[in-house]
Amino acid sequence: MTKLLEGKTAVITGGAQGIGRATAEMLHEHGARLVIADLNGEQAQQTAEEIAGSEGIGVACDVTQADQVDAALDAAIEKFGSLDVMINNAGITRDATMRTMTEEAFDQVIAVHLKGAWNGTRLASLRMREQKSGAIINISSISGKVGMVGQTNYSSAKAGIVGLTKAAAKEMGHHGVRVNAVQPGLIRTAMTEAMPKRIFDEKLAEIPMQRAAEPSEVASVVLFYASDLSSYMTGTVAEVSGGRFM
Ligand code: NDP
Repeated sequence: MTKLLEGKTAVITGGAQGIGRATAEMLHEHGARLVIADLNGEQAQQTAEEIAGSEGIGVACDVTQADQVDAALDAAIEKFGSLDVMINNAGITRDATMRTMTEEAFDQVIAVHLKGAWNGTRLASLRMREQKSGAIINISSISGKVGMVGQTNYSSAKAGIVGLTKAAAKEMGHHGVRVNAVQPGLIRTAMTEAMPKRIFDEKLAEIPMQRAAEPSEVASVVLFYASDLSSYMTGTVAEVSGGRFM
């Protein structure tokens, strides 16, 4: 098998579980060394150890805090010598209709997704421009494309991530740094397992491919963006949604 990321180092926020973990697994299969940066430092360490042994480390990192993101990126360079791939994946939901959504629930979701992705994009690009190469992948959501009931906070943040991705791509193109976004649809993770069955079934009915995706089906698109297979792509958004809301 040709390894697409041999000798590269990838930082994955929120990588201890779900889509982030599946992405870490796939990137490591393709030769990448891993830094898993997650709110839960112990789980991040355990995940890194399970996936990559000595070629991975886990660090506690709250993406809303720029100094903690900075420290995770420093750790990548100290341990492995470079920062080649940055995946801004950490996420939460605090769903409620506007009638009941608290201001705190709005602010929290914007902070983790939009500010978190901005922290990661900005701080990774500062390092990548020095080495004149790098790939940044921001995990948006189909919710940011179409807007979803009960998600005025999440849809706003995920749409904002698309704007961030395109603006950063324009700033970084001539530095050799590519910035792209992925919009997953319905993926089987803890985030969707928390959903009532009725809601899950309603969503399934909207999907032309008539099934939810496995996290690995998002990971493979992230791998594409992280690797030279997408060497002439920047500022783009890939929908991984089984055709939902095309
Ligand atoms: P999970 O809840 O399974 O994983 C999210 C991870 O992010 C957790 O490990 C969580 O840590 C971590 N995290 C939460 N807040 C922070 C923070 N402030 N700093 C660092 N890490 C944090 O979610 P998914 O794998 O389902 O989602 C991953 C991404 O994909 C998210 O951005 C999500 O919005 C997006 N997405 C998911 C879809 C789906 O159907 N699952 C659909 C579309 C997009 P802890 O558990 O310790 O809180």
